[in-house]
Amino acid sequence: MNQKNWMTQLSFYFENCRIRYPDEKLMIVFDIDRTILDVRYMILNILNDYDRRHDTSFFKNLNISKINVHENQVDHLLSQLAIPPEEQQDIFEWYHQKCWTESYLLTAHQPFHGVLEVIRWFQLQKNTHVGLNTSRPESIRKETLCSLNQLGQTYKIRFEDSLLNMSSYTWGKHVPKSKVEGIQKFQDKGFRVFAFVDNEAENLSAVEKIDKKREIFLLHANTLFDSKRVSLPFYAAKGDNYDLTALIPKKSLPKQVQFVWQGINDEDNLRQFLASDIRWGECDLRMAPKNKEVALRHDPFWKTPFEPENKFFPLDALLNRISQTDKSIKFDLKEGGPLIDHLIEAIDDHKIDPARLWFHGDSDIVHETGFKTLSMAYPKALLQTSVDFLAPIILSKPEEARATLNVYTSWGVSRFLLDWRIKYMRALFEKMEAWHFKTDIGNVHNLEEFLEAILLMPSSITADFNFPKWQYFGRGAGQNGRHHEYTEMCI
Ligand SMILES: [Mg+2]
Repeated sequence: MNQKNWMTQLSFYFENCRIRYPDEKLMIVFDIDRTILDVRYMILNILNDYDRRHDTSFFKNLNISKINVHENQVDHLLSQLAIPPEEQQDIFEWYHQKCWTESYLLTAHQPFHGVLEVIRWFQLQKNTHVGLNTSRPESIRKETLCSLNQLGQTYKIRFEDSLLNMSSYTWGKHVPKSKVEGIQKFQDKGFRVFAFVDNEAENLSAVEKIDKKREIFLLHANTLFDSKRVSLPFYAAKGDNYDLTALIPKKSLPKQVQFVWQGINDEDNLRQFLASDIRWGECDLRMAPKNKEVALRHDPFWKTPFEPENKFFPLDALLNRISQTDKSIKFDLKEGGPLIDHLIEAIDDHKIDPARLWFHGDSDIVHETGFKTLSMAYPKALLQTSVDFLAPIILSKPEEARATLNVYTSWGVSRFLLDWRIKYMRALFEKMEAWHFKTDIGNVHNLEEFLEAILLMPSSITADFNFPKWQYFGRGAGQNGRHHEYTEMCI
């Protein structure tokens, strides 16, 4: 059993519990420090502040990768850094005064990569809850909850006060006992605890002793831990990477998010798309320079000129193939003007149901007239434009940005594309959602990003579907995309 990735084991076990206990309230319980939070950031933050306040430079070259101690062993770190012994005591005392104070609790903590996504995934599952079980004392309950909810906000995570168990003992005292009591309290409230994640083997071992039927799957977060002398229960799984691609199986994807397979501009990718279970395929449209035919083409002709033998794939050929299937098609208009008239003509020739059509164009390319023409021709089709350029305005002058979005909706636009890679993407998404605008997340290149984007539950995601792990071989699959003609990896 331990051969498999710990997240895959958790996924199988969870699925099993769902089948065995379909009507029960299932709960996965997480420890906080060194399981969710990487306390090295707090250590670094406090030591850097020491330098600032004391006009010293002991920690000028210190970074996260050089911190390899538990937060209770910062004295060892100070010795490793060859800080003069007479200073070490002072620094250690300063550190101890500061750690776990409100200001550091609220600002200095960072989660491990992927853990918030894992928590979000469980919070999204039906009849499933996430409990927190920490050895921090009750006295810092408010700050603990507040800092975790701050970190979780843009992941759409909400930690509830009633699902946070804190120790009723003083700092560092009776930790395994308090963990056991935490699990029992959740059970007494009617939750079926199916998994417990902690970085200390002795805590997992203590829970093992009260779980006679071995119904709680124990997971050891192999980060930084204190209890080296206690061996792990033999059936516990361990890992140091919260890998979403190992946790989330393809069959569990939410039905309400639409998926779009992008770049069906050539025979290879079109064939893969048509054979897949993805409903929407996206092609890029440009006018071919000489014969004025509409071409499926991502890069501008001036940028990547065609070799004579490299004939482009014409729109007509694509529509011919699509019209014989029940697939739907999204057109990414790389040009406006005459291209739109040619496109309407071609769609009508092939008699494609307008409910299977989706048009995307940037507002400075398609313009008001283009959107209105498409909207009048196909009122049932989906119209979309990009809003990335609005990001700084949405965040600084939201009302101005909202007025611009309202102009777009008056043109018939009903969906807005957000680029996964832009700065503040999550904050932008949050704002768009608060305003009830539907969003399409694009520029998603691999399975991990795709799953992260799904957790936000946008209306749609447009991706390469280059996910070999799931047997999707979209644009770029194999040979790093060398057999495709694109030079730009953009949407
Ligand atoms: Mg811990």
